[in-house]
Amino acid sequence: MVMPDLEIVCVDCGGTCYPLGWFPEDGELDEGTVLPYRCKDCLDRWDVVIGNEGDGRPD
Ligand SMILES: [Zn+2]
Repeated sequence: MVMPDLEIVCVDCGGTCYPLGWFPEDGELDEGTVLPYRCKDCLDRWDVVIGNEGDGRPD
């Protein structure tokens, strides 16, 4: 179980992205869970795989 980032940096615009449908009080998520984030600036959506930071290695 992993605590998702409360916010991430948007790759496109450098803005801040917040989780959609998850709040800190919801607690940790299973690794591999896909949590969507929405950028507050450009409104892009990013699907982030929890517990898989620095990926790039297919497993
Ligand atoms: Zn953005």
